[in-house]
Amino acid sequence: MKSISELISVQHSFFKSQKTKDIDYRLSLLKALKKEILNKEQAILDALHKDFKKSQFEAYLSEIGIVLSELNLAIKNLKKWAKPKRIKASLLTFPSKDYIYKEPYGTVLIIAPWNYPFLLAMEPLIMAIAAGNTVVLKPSELTVNTSKIITSIIEHVFPEDVAISIEGGVETSTELLAQKWDFIFFTGSTTVGKIVAKAAAKHLTPTILELGGKSPCIIDDSVDIKLVATRLVWGKLLNGGQTCIAPDYVIVKSNIKQDLIKALKAEIINRYSDNPKNSADFPRIVNTKNTKRLAELIKDTTIVHGGEIDETTCYIAPTLIDEPNIESPIMQEEIFGPILPILVYDTASDIEKIIWHLDKPLSLYVFSNKSSFINETINKFSFGGGVVNDLLIHFGNHRLPFGGVGASGIGEYHGKHGFDAFSNTKPIVKRGNWIDPSFRYAPYNKKVGLLKTVFKYLG
Ligand code: NAD
Repeated sequence: MKSISELISVQHSFFKSQKTKDIDYRLSLLKALKKEILNKEQAILDALHKDFKKSQFEAYLSEIGIVLSELNLAIKNLKKWAKPKRIKASLLTFPSKDYIYKEPYGTVLIIAPWNYPFLLAMEPLIMAIAAGNTVVLKPSELTVNTSKIITSIIEHVFPEDVAISIEGGVETSTELLAQKWDFIFFTGSTTVGKIVAKAAAKHLTPTILELGGKSPCIIDDSVDIKLVATRLVWGKLLNGGQTCIAPDYVIVKSNIKQDLIKALKAEIINRYSDNPKNSADFPRIVNTKNTKRLAELIKDTTIVHGGEIDETTCYIAPTLIDEPNIESPIMQEEIFGPILPILVYDTASDIEKIIWHLDKPLSLYVFSNKSSFINETINKFSFGGGVVNDLLIHFGNHRLPFGGVGASGIGEYHGKHGFDAFSNTKPIVKRGNWIDPSFRYAPYNKKVGLLKTVFKYLG
């Protein structure tokens, strides 16, 4: 078996052979990948269920379905995406034909998290291959069954000089990060994101970091409370609350807090029964360590619904927490579980005090029927992306770039943005030789006036 540095060197050589620049070659790989995923669809669903009791519906909605649609999109559009794009020339380059070329970075490292273990490994892989890179992928060590399937799919579809999956935990990740890459794509926590950024800085490796954070959900008193509760329970409890863009906490206008809590309780029971442990649709926490972490977070808080914990089966009930102190542990770290703190506001400054107290979030949600309130919220706060009057669904439109800002991430992907993320943008000016205006050459005297006129018309 080859060592990590040998594997990278084999991929470097293959990349230099120029084979991955061939669009038909890339398309053949993407088509083979699609076929293999379709062949292994049931095995993927079974693995996700084994890993954290993810239901088939959620697994298809939030993992396999999106992966297949990104594959279809790339297969359909690759020729168009990869073609040099003619750009309007400038007076300063006249006479010329100007272009933007998209070139693959080379050998890229992708490190994936466990929470959408299939999607968040496959989507970057697809776009990295579409863009013409070779790939070393490290899936998460916490979802072993899904990671095994990912490895077997990659082994079946790709020669190892094009793509390989290396399973392992922190040690493997550390060893991989010590190598020199042409590009690193990391999805995971902000804490580990900083480790990745440090390793990348050593070689000035370009990086995309898709991180997490505490995403707020602001609700004013102009809303239909029942509709808000329906959408909020869905957005919070999908994947057992283990979603990077899940609403981490709510800030609701104080006069409707009690009505909202009542509606949320009714909706949780409506969707998952009064014993969600028995619901086939409610996933488990990924492991005991995370279950214990969540149990710690709800200690000494005011639980108004749920609160049941079974560490042996990694079960945490959908839980509502009433007005925790913003200095308490539950308001200091990303929750990443089915626990929803409900904070209140009366004035705009109450909202600012909460949101500006924390790092820039990955998402922000606002429920309101007042456009002034919606626009003020969108414009005032800095965050990766968001939704008005619903949750999570911005992830579903591949035309929208997806990513964070500041502590919630650097860079963006999805759909064509994903192809661009894995491509270096190379501007090229093809200068004409049929004329060579002497204007730029010395002696310059008396040409400044003309130069000023030229700049006036640039634009
Ligand atoms: P994590 O940061 O613990 O792990 C992510 C990956 O990094 C794993 O493959 C892991 O093996 C590796 N890793 C862990 N510790 C490491 C270390 N010390 N050095 C090098 N590599 C290390 O994240 P996770 O628990 O798998 O996922 C949950 C986090 O990911 C949450 O914060 C969530 O918000 C975030 N997330 C973000 C997005 C996004 O698109 N922005 C998507 C999913 C999850």
